[in-house]
Parts: sequence; structure tokens; C-alpha cells
Amino acid sequence: NFQTRDRRPRPGLFFIVSGPSGVGKNTLLNYALPRVDGIYYLPSITTRAMRSGETQGAPYFFVTKGDFEALIAAGAFLEWKKIHTGDYYGTHLPTITYALANGYDIITDMDVLGCMEVMERFPENVVSIFIAPPDREELRQRLAGREKDASVVAKRLERVEMEMGYMKKYRHVIVNDDLERAGGELVRILNSYSEHK
Ligand code: 5GP
Repeated sequence: NFQTRDRRPRPGLFFIVSGPSGVGKNTLLNYALPRVDGIYYLPSITTRAMRSGETQGAPYFFVTKGDFEALIAAGAFLEWKKIHTGDYYGTHLPTITYALANGYDIITDMDVLGCMEVMERFPENVVSIFIAPPDREELRQRLAGREKDASVVAKRLERVEMEMGYMKKYRHVIVNDDLERAGGELVRILNSYSEHK
């Protein structure tokens, strides 16, 4: 068994951030992560198209459908989902197991169903954080603003209701009313765990 020399005394924490599409999870993460130490962002793997401003690995590792299906067949995912218009999103299993076993704290973005599965699998490690919209109309406008195809917007809105139903199962809920306020709250939550190391 391969072990690192700097193996830490306790298992790593797995911060999972969920919330309806368009709620601003990535913006909040971009605000908070440079302000906390020792938590590593793990990009999910996806087949969806890159949006402007995104790059390979930030916020996702972008692959083709064929590549993704080969990774499924190889057992490379902790969990994966087909979301929205049929794009795949998944979390890389070897990275997660390595990080948690070696005491590294990681953070990733995941839909509510994926989060529920992972909470059952790693009950000791998962710290669940739900990002909620201040109001649905604002969320609708944000979703419409970045996506031209109305049927894609409609599908995403359907999911909003489903995802909101899981909010109460999360350990932390942050209402994304204002970047500085909500981002500051996320920083405080993340830092509160580093004090327990
Ligand atoms: P978006 O395409 O808007 O960035 O993300 C769409 C949805 O995919 C969001 O709800 C996001 O949380 C979810 N997601 C991103 N990565 C993963 C993943 O690895 N697994 C699962 N189950 N959902 C993911």
C-alpha cells in the first residue's frame, strides 16, 4: 500500500457544496477559497460545454462523452450523474480516496443526489453546505441570462424545485444574497473546521 510521508493523523474532510444551478456556487467558491488555507478544490469531470471564462480544470475537467463513458466502465467515479440536458458530471474516486485517507481536506461542487450518496458512503468525512437563492425570480433571471436556449432554462428551473427540497438535509445553509456577505460566511464556515485540526 502506497502511503505519503506526510501522512496526517486524521482523515481528511470532504466539503460538498450544492445548490440550484445558477445560484452562484462557483462565484462564492472563487471568493472563499483564496481566503482559506489547506482546502483543495477538486474539479468534477463533465461532458458539458465550457462556458466563457472557464478553462480546463476550472471549474471542471472537460471531457468527451466517449471519454466519460470509458471512465464509468473503468470504475473511476465515486458517483456520477446525468444532469440537465443529458451532460454527465462525476467525481473522481481515486483522488477522493487518496485525499481522505491521507488527511487532505477537499472541496467540490455536487448536485443534491450525489451529495446524499456520498454522505452515506463517507459519513465521517462529509461536511455538506447548501447555497440557497435569495429568491426564485432572481435565480430565473440569472439562469436565463447565461443560457440562450429556453428549453435548457426550463429544465434547469425544474431541477431548482427538486434541489431546494434537500436543503434541510445539509449541515450548513448559506443564502447567496450578496457576494461579500455570503462569501464571508462560507469563509467562516470553512475556517471553523481548520481550527479543529
Ligand atoms: P453547472 O453545469 O451549472 O456547472 O452544474 C450543473 C450541476 O451539476 C450543479 O448542480 C452541480 O452541483 C452539479 N455537479 C457538478 N459536479 C458534479 C459531480 O461531480 N457530481 C454530481 N452528482 N453533480 C455535479
